[in-house]
Amino acid sequence: MERVITEIIRLAKSCDCGNHHNGIPIETILVGNYVLREAAVYLERKAFKKAVIIADEHTFRVAGADLTKYLSATKVRYSTCLLKPDKNNDVVADEKSLVQALLDTSQDTDVIIAVGSGTIHDIARFTSSKMKIPFISVPTAPSVDGFTSMGAPLIVRGIKQTFQMMAPIAVFADLHVLRNAPKEMIAAGFGDMLAKYTSLTDWKFGNLTVGEPYCPLVAKITREALDICVEKADKIADADEEGIRILIEALIKSGLAMLLFGQSHPASGGEHHLSHYWEMEFLRQNRPQVLHGAKVGVAVSLLADVYERDFIQLISEFTKLEDSIKTTEDESIVKNIKENIQEIRVLYGAIPKASQLSELIEQVGGETMPGQLGIDDDLVVRSLSEAHQLRDRFTALKFLNEVVKVSHQVKVRN
Ligand SMILES: [Zn+2]
Repeated sequence: MERVITEIIRLAKSCDCGNHHNGIPIETILVGNYVLREAAVYLERKAFKKAVIIADEHTFRVAGADLTKYLSATKVRYSTCLLKPDKNNDVVADEKSLVQALLDTSQDTDVIIAVGSGTIHDIARFTSSKMKIPFISVPTAPSVDGFTSMGAPLIVRGIKQTFQMMAPIAVFADLHVLRNAPKEMIAAGFGDMLAKYTSLTDWKFGNLTVGEPYCPLVAKITREALDICVEKADKIADADEEGIRILIEALIKSGLAMLLFGQSHPASGGEHHLSHYWEMEFLRQNRPQVLHGAKVGVAVSLLADVYERDFIQLISEFTKLEDSIKTTEDESIVKNIKENIQEIRVLYGAIPKASQLSELIEQVGGETMPGQLGIDDDLVVRSLSEAHQLRDRFTALKFLNEVVKVSHQVKVRN
């Protein structure tokens, strides 16, 4: 992985996309068996004096405990913050967890170690950013692509919002730990990668139609990470060492791409907006949370279906498009669509069919239909017409709702 970082930094230097590229503050990314000892060695070498391990009961057991054993053999002192679950037994990145992490991080702490999956990383990222001390990432499941990015989706007063905080300075991904992660977390990580089919497409669409910032290099890095996951889906399904290495490296790469770009455009499009909408609805109803990647995996085939059925057809009917123009903004969007019609058709035409996406997710053991996650038809329809409002980003889903105003229905797939 070290070579990947050097290569990304080299390419970013000569990138002429016109956007500012962030430097990559990550010094080390180690993916391998039993790398937790290396994490302790790294902390000692960096002369850190006092670490806090942020984990929950489960992630502490699978990785934190070993880490403390190795830390005890060094001069680095440590304490532990065990995040408490909510009444549904979920650890959530909300006010309660954030305050707990801040209180458990004493003033003499000079480094934070996040031991866990996405949510624990978001809490650690927040704490690290507010306390102005670096953090180290120890993922315990290959379940999301956020480990190496700066963004922390936090739930504040019931609303989920992503804040740009900070990236870790080092990542220690222990394959032995990751391989033993629950099957559904592996499937979720795979779902978060498949989401790139629609996110990358929506990103380019936003660029062509409303001039959203775009970088071909960042898109290419993300695309390569997606392609290898699809190519090696059988290995990932086996959850053997090779498969898990492929998945975690792809997730890390996708995170690095976001880090380089400074925003989540490459990795998050209409499918992520649907997932955020569902998550907020679950929070409102006090229902237990569903894994981010599981929701995103279901959302990507749902959206692929909507795009194939409504969008591809619609953009080819110029008179209909022109009839829907209400504002000068609409006018310029329609003009840009007409000018780039070939490219947009090719872009959206290249998204695999919903059935193919579902097959891939099934292969890795994930759920494919909203109903399987407890998301009913009413919520699906509402999210299709409202989820685009959650983010200020121009996607084909936003276009369908705001420019042409299609009405969404749930179509039973067969
Ligand atoms: Zn995601």
